[in-house]
Amino acid sequence: CGIIGYIGEQLARPRLVAGLQQLEYRGYDSAGIALADDELAVFKQVGLVADLDLPESTPQTCGIGHTRWSTHGKPTDANAHPHTDCSGRVAVVHNGIIGNYDELRASLLDHEFRSETDTEVVAHLLEDELEATDDLREAVGAVVDKIEGSYALGVVAAGYDGIVAARRNSPLVVGHGEDGNFIASDVTPLLEHTRSVSYLEDGDVAHVTREGIAIWNEGTPVDREVHTIEWSP
Ligand code: GLU
Repeated sequence: CGIIGYIGEQLARPRLVAGLQQLEYRGYDSAGIALADDELAVFKQVGLVADLDLPESTPQTCGIGHTRWSTHGKPTDANAHPHTDCSGRVAVVHNGIIGNYDELRASLLDHEFRSETDTEVVAHLLEDELEATDDLREAVGAVVDKIEGSYALGVVAAGYDGIVAARRNSPLVVGHGEDGNFIASDVTPLLEHTRSVSYLEDGDVAHVTREGIAIWNEGTPVDREVHTIEWSP
């Protein structure tokens, strides 16, 4: 299973697809990507990254991708990530297990669920938070206070500048590139684009934009060391 995200000056889709293929060694049963500009475009299905049914032209320069290793819900197209909220404004990819998803799902009575995954609660919780704030980073910060278990999360939203990433008990790195910035499960898909990476720590929430990467932990800005990767795959 794996996560990749890119925002920058280049087209997002080829970087997401290539990145997911470089994460294939981790194993998966389904794949998907979400591309974001003023609207969201989500493509996801059971099977190989190479078989994803994508349109000819995808002009977006921001997006997230996922390979799924099912833990909650069978490998089906509906259960593949990214997961969206009812309004279709926010898209979420997740590796790990949301331990308290049952109880959260029961509390989201006015939301229509379209999958059997633990992950989908995150999209609906974000939809509720985004009624109070337009700041996706703040919304993700509020949601990670409610979820338990293990997660590496990547989130994009229609009309929002940036990718928001968060982690607890599941690995996630951010990459500082020349023509954009990245999130990924590990450094392998990043090395052809950048050798400057930072490892997120438990509780970190990162806002990744074209210009840079800002990280918070428990609502406080934090600095994470920028490492230079010397080795080659
Ligand atoms: N628990 C999530 C699911 O079953 C994520 C699995 C993964 O890490 O790929 O959809």
